[in-house]
Amino acid sequence: MIDFRSDTFTKPTPAMIDAMMSAQVGDDVFGEDVTVNELQEYAATLFGKEAALYCPSGTMSNQIAIKCHTQPGDEVICEKNAHVYIYEGGGIAFNSSSQARPIEGNNGRITAEQVAEAINPDDVHKARTSLVCLENTSNRGGGSCYDFEEIKKVRKVCTDHNLQLHLDGARLFNALVAKKETPAQYGEVFDSISVCLNKGLGCPIGSILIGSKTFINKARRVRKVLGGGMRQAGYMAATGLYALKNNVSRLELDHTHAKQIANALSSKSFVGNIMPVETNILIFEIKKPFTAKAFTDALKQHQIACIPISETHVRIVTHLDVSEAMVRQTLDVINTITL
Ligand SMILES: *Cc1c(COP(=O)(O)O)cnc(C)c1O
Repeated sequence: MIDFRSDTFTKPTPAMIDAMMSAQVGDDVFGEDVTVNELQEYAATLFGKEAALYCPSGTMSNQIAIKCHTQPGDEVICEKNAHVYIYEGGGIAFNSSSQARPIEGNNGRITAEQVAEAINPDDVHKARTSLVCLENTSNRGGGSCYDFEEIKKVRKVCTDHNLQLHLDGARLFNALVAKKETPAQYGEVFDSISVCLNKGLGCPIGSILIGSKTFINKARRVRKVLGGGMRQAGYMAATGLYALKNNVSRLELDHTHAKQIANALSSKSFVGNIMPVETNILIFEIKKPFTAKAFTDALKQHQIACIPISETHVRIVTHLDVSEAMVRQTLDVINTITL
């Protein structure tokens, strides 16, 4: 099967498994796992930050960050389709007793002007605005990337209003590769950054949360409370180190693949709007009377899997386990398929 459902379906390669097998480990709750420590130091240095914390999932690292940056009753500004808001089980309320202030963005991106407008005045009727969360790339925005100049403007608004700025960088490396940006640029403007290792970077599990020493010390306590303190996690952290050193530049190929598929789809009469393809996510519309499900069912006949994300829209995600040959095969199927 050719699996375009998500980049979370990637499985560790033999080289990554070798890295796991030869990992030095210890008890990370005691801070004694040398491989976890190495991953944390490597990530912190990469982003030009003081410290980092290895977490079981991107959801947990986002939720830890939100918990550390807020007090009960606070408000968190984010885009209306942000993962932290719509895909983390109501975690902002559940874990932090805070509420979201969702803003309608442009393919998942919000502007500094919108952030400034959404900040509550110092008034007892209002929730205290304390945190802004951006998502780059934006998942529901079809893998869209922020313009770094806009991020800098958001930073300025946050600084001026004493707000913290967190980045849900689940797929940040896709954005860095696509926009030719550096991790250090991002480390400079965000108070905290979470990066998924378990998506296009190809690790089986894991996420890394990056920030100041004070923030990470606080985050380590919250991770323990949430049950995310792991013991010999070095076997897993080794995959993270391997991925950060070997699987970043190849993301470019995933982006090329997504564009090639978008190009083939654009000549099909049953395909409507295709969201701009900037990275490895491709979201497109199936025109009525056809449905998104009719399209995914038709592909399934050819052992190609992808997800209908609504009645009318389909999502395709390219990744490490989709080879050039698989993409060629997919293009052939798309070129001949009828609904
Ligand atoms: C996948 C994802 C997460 C969470 O990652 P998990 O490791 O699956 O919990 C967070 N944010 C975005 C934008 C994602 O796509």
